[in-house]
Amino acid sequence: MSGAGLPIRAGLRGRTPYGAPQPDVPVRLNTNENPYPPPDEVAAAIEKALGAAVRDLNRYPDRDALALREDLARYLGHGRTAAHVWAANGSNEIQQQLLQVFGGPGRRALGFPPAYSMHPLLAAGTATAWLDGRRSPGFTLGPESAAAQVAEHRPDVVFLCSPNNPTGTALPLAVVEAVLAVAPGIVIVDEAYAEFARPGTASALSLLDGHERLVVTRTMSKAFGFAGGRVGYLAGSPKVVGAVQLVRLPYHLSVLTQAAARAALAHAPALLGTVEAIKAQRDRLVATLTAYGLAVAPSDANFVLFGQFADGPAAWRALLDRGVLVRDVGLPGWLRVTAGTAAETDAFLAALTGVLREQPWTGPGQPDREEYA
Ligand SMILES: *Cc1c(COP(=O)(O)O)cnc(C)c1O
Repeated sequence: MSGAGLPIRAGLRGRTPYGAPQPDVPVRLNTNENPYPPPDEVAAAIEKALGAAVRDLNRYPDRDALALREDLARYLGHGRTAAHVWAANGSNEIQQQLLQVFGGPGRRALGFPPAYSMHPLLAAGTATAWLDGRRSPGFTLGPESAAAQVAEHRPDVVFLCSPNNPTGTALPLAVVEAVLAVAPGIVIVDEAYAEFARPGTASALSLLDGHERLVVTRTMSKAFGFAGGRVGYLAGSPKVVGAVQLVRLPYHLSVLTQAAARAALAHAPALLGTVEAIKAQRDRLVATLTAYGLAVAPSDANFVLFGQFADGPAAWRALLDRGVLVRDVGLPGWLRVTAGTAAETDAFLAALTGVLREQPWTGPGQPDREEYA
């Protein structure tokens, strides 16, 4: 608990800050980072851009980050222009700005857990009431169910997450369309992992024309391997882009951030060159864990959710004791592992086989542990 004894407002009192344990271990597969640092030629280009930007540090940056937004729009395609795109310090800040404008006191946001744990925290931070929607067994969410829940609660903001964190599975576009048809407010589709989706997975970007209350959020933190650079963005109608400017802090994106991000985007193919290798490790994790007999959620992301352990925290600790850090996302019996390098996958699988011998678990390939033992 933070701030005990301080006059913190009711919506925040007794809460704990976002975060997960970060012990220093050899294999860190807990925050869905890209394991590859920028290639040398991209690092050199970013250094050069930063060197030039440093000479301008006496001046405020471009408040509207117009050149960066043009670059991001060009990367997105789908007919987007700078007028459809807004950028900030991570997609977390983008979503906070959206809640500041479209949520706030007296308003409500709805999400479908298990989903990104920051969504309800951002709601709390902006005094937006939070509603938990329901998923079907297997963490699925169908168009009828999603639309019925949105129609019932009529939230001001709906959060969809596709591919979803922590399950990894992308939503069918039909879910987004069904929600848009009944949502009275803004519909945010968090596509932080879009670049890792399996072939044939459609992005909600394709629905933007004709839906001015749809907002797609993206980030450079995952596929671009730019988590430390802190750049996220949205694609939406020009009206939405205008609206978030009501709440953005002046000069929120520093000269250095804008310069580094533009240099990175100029080398997008080189930076995204790691995506296929990461997807291969992701698919290897899904196949191997399934072959072990575990339950595994289908993944369109750079991580895999697997279970079920009788005691998830104990299994998490047993992996950590073997030098491998994964994430306990608070779903009883399930753990989430990031797809890293081939060597990291090797280390994780070696540790896991040891853990599976020690820790009780069940899965579709091994439904009756008693019999197996
Ligand atoms: C990692 C992640 C983000 C990224 O947040 P940034 O602020 O852009 O680093 C956004 N949404 C989801 C679902 C994520 O898992």
